Amino acid sequence: MSSVMDISPHIALLTSSGMGHLTPILRLAAMLASQNCHVTLLTAQPPVSNAESEHIIAFLAAYPTINRLDFQLLPYTPPNPETADPFFVQFEAIIRSVHLLPPLLSSISPPVSAFFSDITSAAGGHQVANDLGVPNYVISTTSARFSCFVSYVPYLLASESSIPVAETSIQIPGLDPFDHSNLPPPFFIPNHLFTKTLVSNSRALSKSKGILLNTFHDFEPKTIEAVNNGKFIQDFPRFLAIGPLEPHKLEIGDHQTLPWLDKQPTRSVVYVSFGSRTAMSKDQITELRNGLEKSGQKFLWVLKTKIVDKEDSEELGELVTGSFLERTKAQGMVVKGWVNQEVILSHPAVGGFVSHCGWNSVMEAAARGIPMLAWPLLGDQRVNAEVVESAGLGIWEKSWGWLGARLVKSEKIAEKVTMLMGDENVREKARKIGEMAKNAIQVGGSSHKVLIEIIQNL
Ligand code: UDP
Repeated sequence: MSSVMDISPHIALLTSSGMGHLTPILRLAAMLASQNCHVTLLTAQPPVSNAESEHIIAFLAAYPTINRLDFQLLPYTPPNPETADPFFVQFEAIIRSVHLLPPLLSSISPPVSAFFSDITSAAGGHQVANDLGVPNYVISTTSARFSCFVSYVPYLLASESSIPVAETSIQIPGLDPFDHSNLPPPFFIPNHLFTKTLVSNSRALSKSKGILLNTFHDFEPKTIEAVNNGKFIQDFPRFLAIGPLEPHKLEIGDHQTLPWLDKQPTRSVVYVSFGSRTAMSKDQITELRNGLEKSGQKFLWVLKTKIVDKEDSEELGELVTGSFLERTKAQGMVVKGWVNQEVILSHPAVGGFVSHCGWNSVMEAAARGIPMLAWPLLGDQRVNAEVVESAGLGIWEKSWGWLGARLVKSEKIAEKVTMLMGDENVREKARKIGEMAKNAIQVGGSSHKVLIEIIQNL
């Protein structure tokens, strides 16, 4: 007698580096498990940050049916270890170690039916899937728009040795032009570790069976349609928009209580966070501190001073000095360390989000209809901010530039925060986006249909 479990696919997912990449993989793993798929999580060891180690352990304890396979990385030292970003180094270490995976995976039961890899290890993922004779799906952890840019890099490089810097914008078939100033500066440095890794991954994207995206059709309709209707690159794999990815059990659990937030009026608090790995300079932190105070708005600010959390040992008082905390204790709250962002954004008191536009953060805000003040700082974030602005989810002050390019003064910050919290128009648009996001993931919604179709195809 055959049971449903007998015909369920077995999907192996390879984790990457950094919470921005781990979070969507864990959410997807939980969603696949809830659809009765067999799921194996390949955890690249050792992870870079404490947050990653802690989340993997807690996640697997909460989902005992998900199988864990540790994937011990080969040691890798970059050419310039002092300045190299530890998360990028890990991307490279994963790609250099993937040949160890097929022997690990070929002996597990039931046999693996598909291999899902992160965009940062797409080249390695393609190789593993090929060796196992199974389809490879790539999980892109950024916007559909930035995913298009990444996918197009090999075509831009076909006639040049580096991405052309002369033009003010780059034309890509089927899409609105990409403003040069919004593309990450390392793209224009051919030997940069980020660019080298990315170029080899970009080439692998076109060989995948499909590209899974944490976005939804109505948020980025033009881009998704351009790819799926062949206007972008002919015969390019489909963009499979399955977002906003739903939070897993741990994120929903209210293990972190914020009594201060509970006391605030509905939609009165601006949440300020720049993600898991973006640290501002002390001068910029001071301007932000003063800006929040001057805005007169209630705030919940998550402060981060180092790229990797293991090194972030400075006490709160050393950063937000003097009487600030005392003076603003009715107006706001500053938190150092990990917070449960899902819980915060779902809290009725939160009415706005000042964000670096890491793509998970954008989708988490979209899912709840929370308007954003986009303050992109690195990598894909300015392109993501373009998407936020054009979808109507938030406002963006483009002149603030890349991280460290200029000091954004407190008066400007106060002005924009006040604008965000008082703008009824953007609030209403964001609310509508929240509704569209909910529809997308409901049974019969665009994202739900795509996910079910992927599972059925396997
Ligand atoms: N996050 C969180 N608490 C924190 C910092 C980050 O829950 O204190 C989560 C956030 O909800 C998001 C992820 O970590 O899911 C960060 O990813 P994102 O793409 O927004 O930014 P990144 O950290 O990759 O720059």
